[in-house]
Amino acid sequence: MRILVTGGAGFIGSHLCERLINESHDVICLDNFFTGRRENIFQLLDNPRFELLRHDVIEPILLEVDQIYNLACPASPIHYQYNPVKTVKTSVMGMINMLGLAKRVRARILQASTSEVYGDPLVHPQPEEYWGNVNPIGIRSCYDEGKRIAETLMMDYHRQSKVDTRIARIFNTYGPRMLENDGRVVSNFVVQALRSQPLTLYGAGDQTRSFCYVDDLVDALIKLMNTDALHEPVNLGNPTEFTIKELASEVMEVCRSNSELVHLPLPEDDPKQRKPDITRAQALLGWTPTIQLRAGLERTVGYFRPRILGVPVLQDATPTK
Ligand code: NAD
Ligand code: UDP
Repeated sequence: MRILVTGGAGFIGSHLCERLINESHDVICLDNFFTGRRENIFQLLDNPRFELLRHDVIEPILLEVDQIYNLACPASPIHYQYNPVKTVKTSVMGMINMLGLAKRVRARILQASTSEVYGDPLVHPQPEEYWGNVNPIGIRSCYDEGKRIAETLMMDYHRQSKVDTRIARIFNTYGPRMLENDGRVVSNFVVQALRSQPLTLYGAGDQTRSFCYVDDLVDALIKLMNTDALHEPVNLGNPTEFTIKELASEVMEVCRSNSELVHLPLPEDDPKQRKPDITRAQALLGWTPTIQLRAGLERTVGYFRPRILGVPVLQDATPTK
């Protein structure tokens, strides 16, 4: 197949492009390089089945493709809050452009939605039936509400125009190729621990998240895309829940670091708890994440260590699969 991956030079997108190329597809990677990097896809640039397009999804584009993975959107709070109006445009106009393309060329389209559609959830863990608790006017709204309207567009294009849609509600995902200055908690803690700097705990650190290793997530995205007639949203994430304090200890152990902890103010509207109910993914995709936090952190630290410390590492730092 010929497959378009928007946001393909970003963290998840680059792993997805690599997997699709390894599965012998032709891949068009489209990116505006806001948070993506050529370095993430460097190993693919010489591959005759790989094509790179510098393009912004808020502008229409016509391409002949069979499938579209729409990942284009900054995902870290500091990046999506940098230009919130652009974040809304990326989710809304980008989604309309990609759905228009899918409709015109009859491509199947998968949208990278997010657990943020549940906001600060009052139901725990979160099943897909939960409608969420989202502040529509807060500093996270540009991302949360942008992704919610993108889901609305997906469902309406499906009902109205029979576009073949898939919605992945992705929970916190981590791994190699996150940016050093990404701002999300796993990369922040790993970089701080390796530099022997204090780990920055926002608030008391009692808030929870459930962390999925990127290889597991990519498996799930490909399974979801290739499962027939599944138009309802599907939660994708690792259901093992950690407090942010527990994550800090895990990272320090894996990095063998003596860093201290420093408490900084909790950002506005920071969700208190988050854990996916993945019953639907297990039943309909036959998917369950297999890489637990310790193993995933070891691979992630293996990626960051030589970058931060400038020394080679003994363990295999290659992002696998
Ligand atoms: P990322 O920031 O590394 O990747 C996003 C990519 O999209 C980057 O390469 C960026 O340059 C590109 N991009 C941004 N705006 C664009 C635009 N207007 N036009 C073209 N390209 C654009 O983030 P990620 O973690 O790889 O996330 C990928 C997708 O998955 C995002 O849509 C994100 O919302 C979603 N998601 C990620 C997580 C997570 O934990 N990583 C969780 C939920 C949802
Ligand atoms: N967080 C933290 N220190 C950091 C970065 C994040 O304590 O250096 C916290 C943040 O307040 C949130 C959790 O870790 O409660 C996850 O934050 P992240 O930005 O990774 O993702 P999201 O809030 O979007 O789930």
